[in-house]
Amino acid sequence: MASGPFDLEGKVALVTGGNGGIGKGIALGLARAGASVAVAARNPDKTAGAVAELEAAGASAIGLSCDVTDSAAVDAAIASCVEQFGGLDIVVNNSGVNVRKLPQDLSLEEWQGVIDVNLTGVFIVSRAAYPELVNRGGGKVINIGSMMSIFANETLAPYASSKGGVVQFTKACAAAWAKDNIQVNAILPGWISTEMTEPLRTDMPERYRTITERTPVKRWGTPDELAGTAVFLAAAASNFVTGTAIPVDGGYSIQS
Ligand code: NDP
Repeated sequence: MASGPFDLEGKVALVTGGNGGIGKGIALGLARAGASVAVAARNPDKTAGAVAELEAAGASAIGLSCDVTDSAAVDAAIASCVEQFGGLDIVVNNSGVNVRKLPQDLSLEEWQGVIDVNLTGVFIVSRAAYPELVNRGGGKVINIGSMMSIFANETLAPYASSKGGVVQFTKACAAAWAKDNIQVNAILPGWISTEMTEPLRTDMPERYRTITERTPVKRWGTPDELAGTAVFLAAAASNFVTGTAIPVDGGYSIQS
């Protein structure tokens, strides 16, 4: 049973996109705080690698094959998590994709693809998890937004629209589920070195430099630097915190 305010012993967490990047950093953080972790994503090899890393860190971990845009697959993944771990307490909606193009150059499929994963996927997973969290007498939902939940950029229309939506969805769920003792919050990562941002670092050196310069700490973050805030939002320490969006960004969002 959980004892200290940051202790996740006995808790079960499901992390979408937990097989790499920020999701894996968060999954490892939750595991080190004592949680059993289910990693839900599409690529089975990456998922198997993440499960092995979690187990090497001493955690109970399972991999679940799941596309967050597929409601039936999400239902099956959550049922499998509950069957194997006995319940579900913490959901991290982290899966995300991006397409960089000017708004007028986007196809409908490209627009829809980003909105489907980044926003509708958060809805599908949260809705499926809700009864399981209620079964446990409460729980925690952590949605991964972005600096693009606050700002926008000429080539990030669907991404920024989806991530702005994630913050509003977070507030709506926080209001709806407070009566169930479910806290729903968002983390807004700043610029983090992962596969998703690799093209920025390699193909757009000028943009990379501008971002680094604008960030007060003068560097990009690493996936493990999201773990502390995730553990806080997953633990009893945050029981009076709901509906908020916490930037973890080296100060990127504090200045114009
Ligand atoms: P990565 O590209 O490294 O990871 C994205 C993850 O999402 C992968 O694990 C991928 O797994 C999963 N994923 C993608 N599509 C789907 C899908 N349809 N169903 C299930 N899982 C899916 O990116 P990051 O780690 O950088 O991004 C993680 C989150 O953080 C995203 O929501 C992103 O928008 C957000 N973010 C990232 C920032 C950064 O600077 N890196 C900054 C701000 C926010 P698989 O392919 O196996 O399905």
